[in-house]
Amino acid sequence: MTATILAVGSEMLTPFKVDTNSLHVTERLNAIGYEVRGKAVVCDDLDEIVAAFRAAVGRVDLLVCTGGLGPTEDDLTRDALARIMGVDMERDAGILEDLTVRFARRGIVMRDNNLRQALVPRGAIAVKNANGTAPGLLARVDRTIVVLLPGPPREMKPMLDRLIGDGAIPSHGDGLFRRVLKITGRPESEVDAIAQPIYTPWMSQAVPISTTILAALGQIELHLTAAAAGRDAADAVLAPAVQALCAVLGASVYSVDGRGLEAVVGDLLRDAGWTIGVAESCSGGLLASRLTDVPGSSAYFDRGVVCYSNEAKRDLLGVPEAMIAEHGAVSEPVALAMADGIRARAGTSVGIGITGIAGPGGGSELKPVGTVAFAVVAPAARSVRTVQFFGAREQVKYQSTQAALNLLRLLMSGPRG
Ligand code: ATP
Ligand code: MG
Repeated sequence: MTATILAVGSEMLTPFKVDTNSLHVTERLNAIGYEVRGKAVVCDDLDEIVAAFRAAVGRVDLLVCTGGLGPTEDDLTRDALARIMGVDMERDAGILEDLTVRFARRGIVMRDNNLRQALVPRGAIAVKNANGTAPGLLARVDRTIVVLLPGPPREMKPMLDRLIGDGAIPSHGDGLFRRVLKITGRPESEVDAIAQPIYTPWMSQAVPISTTILAALGQIELHLTAAAAGRDAADAVLAPAVQALCAVLGASVYSVDGRGLEAVVGDLLRDAGWTIGVAESCSGGLLASRLTDVPGSSAYFDRGVVCYSNEAKRDLLGVPEAMIAEHGAVSEPVALAMADGIRARAGTSVGIGITGIAGPGGGSELKPVGTVAFAVVAPAARSVRTVQFFGAREQVKYQSTQAALNLLRLLMSGPRG
């Protein structure tokens, strides 16, 4: 079964807003057996929306469109549906009643434009919106089921789930299920060279597994996808595959369950009963920010210090001035002294120090832009590295936090092949 997704809204054709609804819709549709063959973003213009509908209707089994169901003049998807169905609009008494009650309960005056939301193209079915005023719409046009959902994600998601749950959007046998391996510390080409001999035979087995490699900043993702009747059946196929890849990729695999590196490290810290303090120069607090993005991080995260100047490194962490003068602020001795300094002052189990040149200016021949020294000090373990990262300033900052987190992860989890 095939599907097309449309996101309606001129705001998503500006540099400030992207369509994220379609990612969620894709995941849900994949799980009930639809292959998404195309998607598009369309501006709030009736002719454009109609043209996009016409391009999909008759060609795919399902068209899911989000946005443009609100009460204002620029909300035009229901008009577009009426146009491709070749019918007039009718006022739906049930929807009107719901709107009236909803507004009365909130003590808000219902305006004329809200009445537009009770309009339904003749032959289409209105779908109640439990989380907002805009009802969804469902219709069959030609061989295609057309589903219009509200734009706001918190209204769209539950409505989509309900339509799938009650069969209004029919499930079609096997769904597509994914497992994601997150890998760090190896380049993409190396990951592929190691993994390919393992995954190539899977493509032609009874239940084939398709493999995609996605390179992102500071990490590689290996996506394994299989069609199966449900999550359990998919896991029976995918779990041994995940295991086989972990065996060859070893400790560079940091997550097989969707967790980010900061969450993986957080879990290791919590399990060990350890606490952590971080001292950051070039990463400017990003490491502390990432660690505290994880719910429950107060169980192990004690503090972070941003010590950008030499004086701050001296005053806040006790890094000796002579050490900075001799080795430079970006050096392994200074990174170690920062880690030691924060660990001693905070009284934590672990201290991390990061110091580097984020660029674009400031590098030298010996220490070019992107050079970062980072150190981890933990009970019975001290480790320091210098790496040269590539990319713009914010990319160097991110990669330095990723590398420091990974160094701690490896210290805590020990070698696993
Ligand atoms: P209403 O106007 O009643 O809120 P609507 O169905 O007309 O609902 P829009 O006006 O198009 O929806 O969008 C409402 C909000 O939802 C906006 O903040 C918009 O940016 C967001 N939104 C709409 N479509 C998407 C999308 N595809 N991805 C992410 N956000 C979206
Ligand atoms: Mg809109």
